[in-house]
Amino acid sequence: MNTEQQRQKLIEERQNLESEMGKIGRKNPSVPNDWEPTAGDVGQEADPIDQAELVTELETSSAIFTDLEVRYDQVLAALAKIEKGAYGVCETCGKPVEEARLAVDPAAPTCIEHK
Ligand SMILES: [Zn+2]
Repeated sequence: MNTEQQRQKLIEERQNLESEMGKIGRKNPSVPNDWEPTAGDVGQEADPIDQAELVTELETSSAIFTDLEVRYDQVLAALAKIEKGAYGVCETCGKPVEEARLAVDPAAPTCIEHK
């Protein structure tokens, strides 16, 4: 397996995720590699209908944000494994993860059997 190629794919995906998360959240200044959704400012003087819309919008964007963050953590974990020379090993059984699986998902943490 070409680990360097996988690393490039992961770095590219990390950049994409960071820019997506940057649209609806921000980097947590106190925890490295941690992100948090930015809460929309609900103005005190906004009427109740506007406020309800804002809350719905916020709930949707924080759900999207959570998905992005889960994926982001997987990508970071895969990159860390490459650094340690432990890339492509199933986290459940310790056997090599199938190359076909890694080709589809470079951040796959487990083999096909244990996904
Ligand atoms: Zn396995």
